[in-house]
Amino acid sequence: MDKCKRFEQQLLSKIVSPIKKSDLLSDYPDSEKNLAEKALQSLMDQNKIIKSKEGSRIVFSPVKEGMFSRKLIPIKGSTGNIYQVLFSIDDGKLKASCNCPAGKKSILCKHVIGIMLNDEDIHRELDNYGYLSVYNDYLAKLDESEKIKKEASNIKKKFERLLLR
Ligand SMILES: [Zn+2]
Repeated sequence: MDKCKRFEQQLLSKIVSPIKKSDLLSDYPDSEKNLAEKALQSLMDQNKIIKSKEGSRIVFSPVKEGMFSRKLIPIKGSTGNIYQVLFSIDDGKLKASCNCPAGKKSILCKHVIGIMLNDEDIHRELDNYGYLSVYNDYLAKLDESEKIKKEASNIKKKFERLLLR
């Protein structure tokens, strides 16, 4: 077995719950840290571990059962076109793309949003990869903006009655 593979196995046995990088590498002498980091990267490339943020710390976690590396979901757009939404684990990070005109420009399109709302697997992955707080922030603001839009519309109606009729 080559040395990198041996490091991978050692590291994998240590990463059973989220662990800080410094704690993970503390047992290795400086001369071996480079190899240990290489092994970490290799484990991420193989989707065996993921890197995420816990506050300001970088942590490594085991990939949980049922996690996917690629999930392609066809979805019907409002004009009847079928778009392909792809969720994938890329370099240890969860990424999404959609081949609709907005998605091609890296805009968070309604197809990706729709899947995040309705697909439990994807929702769990958002949590696994530490994206859930941003996602929830977005939903909360969206809710707020809908409410404000409705309020504005009611005030507009009131104004119309005053001014135009
Ligand atoms: Zn789209």
